[in-house]
Amino acid sequence: MRIGVPKEIKTHEYRVGLTPHSVAQLCRDGHDVIVERDAGLRIDFSDSDYIAAGADIADDAATVFDAAEMVVKVKEPQPEEYGMLSEGQTLFTYLHLAADRQQTEGLIASGATCIAYETVTETGGGLPLLRPMSQVAGRMSVQVGAHFLEIAQGGRGLLLSGVPGVEPARVVILGGGVAGQCAAEMALGMRASVTIFDISATRLGELDAMFGGRIRTRFSTPQAIEDAITEADLVIGAVLVPGARAPHLITRGDLSSMRPGAVLVDIAIDQGGCFETSRPTTHDRQSFIVDDVVHYCVANMPGAVARTSTIALNNVTLPYVRAMAALGIKEALAADSHLAGGVNVDAHRIVHPAVGQTFEDLP
Ligand code: NAD
Repeated sequence: MRIGVPKEIKTHEYRVGLTPHSVAQLCRDGHDVIVERDAGLRIDFSDSDYIAAGADIADDAATVFDAAEMVVKVKEPQPEEYGMLSEGQTLFTYLHLAADRQQTEGLIASGATCIAYETVTETGGGLPLLRPMSQVAGRMSVQVGAHFLEIAQGGRGLLLSGVPGVEPARVVILGGGVAGQCAAEMALGMRASVTIFDISATRLGELDAMFGGRIRTRFSTPQAIEDAITEADLVIGAVLVPGARAPHLITRGDLSSMRPGAVLVDIAIDQGGCFETSRPTTHDRQSFIVDDVVHYCVANMPGAVARTSTIALNNVTLPYVRAMAALGIKEALAADSHLAGGVNVDAHRIVHPAVGQTFEDLP
């Protein structure tokens, strides 16, 4: 199969659909890979790395889209990109269509088979192609939280770990799923004092067993959260209610009971945010302060560590790319119902039920 990798064009997106190692694997499998010039340059995947892996380099995106039977990307296609897709082609990338009518219409018009990473499922109901990004955001949340606790960033002037004779910072994590667990691992590794809240007693049990009593687990109720945040130095919001907007677990009124210079990191900002005062921030302007509490609400945290994120994403996407390239798209989808769950748009129609419900007037 001919597989194409265009350079990402969304602002500040430096990830790339396939790493040189993934390309080498696909070439070894007998496929042709065409990569746009400088596609991985910013994260130190040079054109010569791709050439050494067996890829051809194309001067522009149009050449890649023209040549490829399957296009592998990271971010949802921008208008100039879905204009280059056509019938018989497959697009494999994050799409997030429910939030984007214009893109949905563009993909329907293209006639291509559009498979969204975020709706590929696995046995047990997990979302395997979202997990690495939650892992990245969860681990990163503690790193950024520690940074914003510094005086120069508006924080309380605390070192997360403390030092001998000085107590560590108190970290409260709301939501003990993939991101919350990763945040806890890092906070614990940095010797902070860690409490995790979740509404699932089963999950709290798993976390308790996993961390062997080195963290505290609390059942999530508004009163319990209110009590915990009065003492907290860093609060990390990592809740997810599937298919719904994130609940506001800390209200504006609650901020006055928090310590001045405490830090809120809202990982769930991509689902609307779990603090009432959150609003999306960017890698250029990462934080703002409300009522003396520092807020960090970057909606695409993994973009800041694009090399790590690219490799983590490839670790989970490559097996699907290999399967589709080896079997053919239709055959691979027929053989794997979890991958088939990723198809959002196909042959000028929406095929994913949730996207169909959002845009009932579209084909
Ligand atoms: P997950 O489903 O693995 O975990 C979510 C957890 O939240 C679950 O354990 C659930 O029981 C818990 N929860 C739900 N309601 C709660 C409540 N009221 N109180 C306490 N816990 C509650 O989800 P995840 O993969 O860890 O993702 C967490 C969030 O991070 C999502 O909103 C996701 O979109 C977001 N995310 C953001 C970025 C970013 O760059 N900002 C990157 C990756 C993921």
